[in-house]
Amino acid sequence: MSQKFSGKRAYRFLKKIGFIRFAGSSGELEASKIIAESFRKMGYSVDIEEFKIWSYRIIEAGLEVLEPNYRKIPCRGVGLTGSTSKDGVVDELVYVEDGGKRFLVKDKIWLYYGGLDAEKYREIVKYKPKALIRVEENPSRNPAFTDMPVEWWKYGKIPMIRVKYSDAYRLMRLRKAKIRVKLIQNEFETLSRNIVAEKVGIKYPDEVIIIGAHYDSEYGTIGATDNAGGIAVMMELARIFSLKQNMRTIRFIAFGAEELGLRGSRNYVKIHERELEKVKLMVNIDVQGSGIGRISAIISGGDDIKNYIEILGKELGISIRVSQGIASSDSTSFAWKNVPSISFSRSGGPTFFMHTEKDDFRHVDPFGLELSGMLIESFLNRIVNAVEYPFKREIPENVKKNIKEYFEKRMGIEMK
Ligand SMILES: [Zn+2]
Repeated sequence: MSQKFSGKRAYRFLKKIGFIRFAGSSGELEASKIIAESFRKMGYSVDIEEFKIWSYRIIEAGLEVLEPNYRKIPCRGVGLTGSTSKDGVVDELVYVEDGGKRFLVKDKIWLYYGGLDAEKYREIVKYKPKALIRVEENPSRNPAFTDMPVEWWKYGKIPMIRVKYSDAYRLMRLRKAKIRVKLIQNEFETLSRNIVAEKVGIKYPDEVIIIGAHYDSEYGTIGATDNAGGIAVMMELARIFSLKQNMRTIRFIAFGAEELGLRGSRNYVKIHERELEKVKLMVNIDVQGSGIGRISAIISGGDDIKNYIEILGKELGISIRVSQGIASSDSTSFAWKNVPSISFSRSGGPTFFMHTEKDDFRHVDPFGLELSGMLIESFLNRIVNAVEYPFKREIPENVKKNIKEYFEKRMGIEMK
């Protein structure tokens, strides 16, 4: 079989897992089986590592204007934010912008525009809004599928729904609107799993390079680019590396439940904490496949890695947007435990519809998969087989600060 990265072959794999793979659902389980089976067929030794997560099912989400004039407004429930009573909550609507102090009032139902992090959420909860209506920031997007980190539960729960920007604007202009918000959901503990496939290095078996991608999708989307595309690239890389010798150990990991707060990678670094010393580098692949697009690499590591990627881009004639910092993805769980990491992504048309039902096959193309694949393959070839491992084990102070903020401020996780 060919040792060349094939975008077409990767695309076929993407299609194979092109169904909803929401964490904790039967779709996620089905995808894990397909991935594990493919690794085994390539000759890898495969481990399946299960872990507990909280997942949910939205039963009903509704938004009605009761006064001044009755109308129904389409909305989407936000997962893991609890439920209203079965008749919903009724109150006056207030527009609170992005939660600046001058807008905040006790109770009511809030129309909220902007992002939320743990810090902000903790403040908001003190005002006890009966429900939060979140506004989709991009006017061209339908309400996204989102969920709240369970770490925020300790502050209290506020039922949340999301609406389109245009609908939110209509609501905002109403005077003294009385509205009803209904959200009914099941929240339950269940299992997700990481699929770990390894091929031991023939010369430096104790030096490990991890290549990872999450295979779960958000609730209600097939996540063609996020991240069936990343899995497709990873599986094609695994196929190529199964056909040739590797000096260092390569370990491919398909992570579960990334969308619910990096659950898979956080579980992995927790249960393997002692062995992480052997891991030289974690290469993460998240968001891939846009036909028209551009490639980015976020380095949670030193200047040496950054320079190396930039030069490799020149060598291959592919312009790469290289930056140092953190990606909101599984690479950050590793950087948190002092394993330098890189996250490769390809953004383009479909990525503007990420976490909506429009992240589908429409604008996904073998070409996009092949370009990323070729680049990551060249990089891995060098790193896995270098006579001396080229990079320092270093996370710069500013990146450490990003990591701390990400987990503490945004996710609400206490760091040791
Ligand atoms: Zn993703």
